[in-house]
Amino acid sequence: MLLNLLEYHWAEHIDDALILLSRNDMKTVPLAGGTYLLAQKDDSIQAVVDLRDLELAYISEEARGICIGAMTTLQQMVDSPLLKNVASGLLSRAALASSFSRLVRNSATLGGTLGAGIASQADLLTALAVLDAEVVLRSGSQTQVNLSGGTFEHPGLALSGVTYKGKQERRVPYNSANGARRPNELILEVIIPRPAPSCAASFMRIGRTPTDVALLNVVALVEVANGLYQRVRLALGGVNMPPVRLLAVEQRLEGQAVVNPDELVHLIAPILQAGMAEFSPPSDFRASSGYRRISGLNLAFRALEEAITISRQRALASSRGDI
Ligand SMILES: Cc1cc2nc3c(=O)[nH]c(=O)nc-3n(C[C@H](O)[C@H](O)[C@H](O)COP(=O)(O)OP(=O)(O)OC[C@H]3O[C@@H](n4cnc5c(N)ncnc54)[C@H](O)[C@@H]3O)c2cc1C
Repeated sequence: MLLNLLEYHWAEHIDDALILLSRNDMKTVPLAGGTYLLAQKDDSIQAVVDLRDLELAYISEEARGICIGAMTTLQQMVDSPLLKNVASGLLSRAALASSFSRLVRNSATLGGTLGAGIASQADLLTALAVLDAEVVLRSGSQTQVNLSGGTFEHPGLALSGVTYKGKQERRVPYNSANGARRPNELILEVIIPRPAPSCAASFMRIGRTPTDVALLNVVALVEVANGLYQRVRLALGGVNMPPVRLLAVEQRLEGQAVVNPDELVHLIAPILQAGMAEFSPPSDFRASSGYRRISGLNLAFRALEEAITISRQRALASSRGDI
C-alpha cells in the first residue's frame, strides 16, 4: 500500500510521462500492471504515472530484431504466435511459468517485471539472460532558467522562467540493465536479436509444486551450425537470486566439433562440473545454497543436453533441405 501517494497521472504521451518522472521535488514512479508496485509498503512514493495509454504493448519483428514493448503483458507473451516460434518458444514458456495465475499474467507486464527485478520472482529473467537481449531506456529532463538581458553594448530582452526540455535514449545489454538503469528512466522495450532457425532452447525449473515459484531454473540455448557448437548460452536463476550466466561453460563449448549423442555426456559433464564453480546461489528458507548447486548441476546438464540434441537435429534437417 502506497500510503503517502498524493498524485495519480494517466499519461497519454511518453514525453509527458518522462517529464513527470524527472521531477526532483516529488518522488514519482511508473505504474504498469501494478501487481508488484501497489502491494509495496513504500512511504517515499508520492506520485505514480500510469503507462497503459502509451502504446507500449506490442510484439513485432523488425530489422533490429524482435521488439517487445514494455507494457506487453505476460499473457500476451504466452499467446504470441511470433514468440512461440522463436528459440523453441522459450519466452512464451518462461512467461507462463513466471506466474501460474492467469489473473496476474493479464496485468503484469514485461516492463514491470524488469522494473521489479528479482523481486518479481519471474522465470522470464533467466530466459532473457540467454537471448542477448537489449533494453531500450528513455529519460527526460526539464530545466527552468532565467535568461539575462544581454550586455550594455548588446542589449537584449530579459526572460524569466524559460523552460528547456530534453530527452535521452540508450540501449543497454539486458544483463547489465538493472544495475545501469537510472531512477527516472523509463523502460520502453526489449529487443531480441532473432536466433538462427537451428537454434534450440531448453527451459527447466524446480519448484516445491509445479505451479510454485522456481527454487531454481535453468535455460540453455544452443545453435549447431557447420558441424560446430556455434553459439552456447547457459543461465541459472530462481527465486531470490539474479540470473547467472555460466560464461566458462559457454566459452569452452563454443567452437567445439559436434559429438554423437552417446558421447555427449563425456563432453558436457566435466565442463559443467568445472564451470559450476562460478555458481554460488544464496540460501534461504526455501532451499539451501548446496541444494541449489547440486540440483543446478543436474538441471544444467539436462537442459544443455536437450538444447544440443534439438539444435543438432534441426541443423541436420536443414542441411538435408527438410526445413
Ligand atoms: C499475489 C501476487 C503474486 C505474484 N507472484 C508472482 C510470481 O510468482 N512471479 C512473477 O513473475 N510475478 C508475480 N507477481 C506479479 C509480479 O508482480 C509481476 O510479474 C511483475 O513483476 C510486475 O509487473 P507489473 O506490470 O504489475 O509492474 P508494476 O507493479 O506496475 O511495477 C513494478 C515495478 O516496475 C516499475 N516499472 C513498471 N513499468 C516500468 C517501466 N516501463 N519502466 C521503468 N520502471 C517500470 C514500477 O515503478 C515498479 O517499481 C505476483 C503478483 C501478485 C499480486
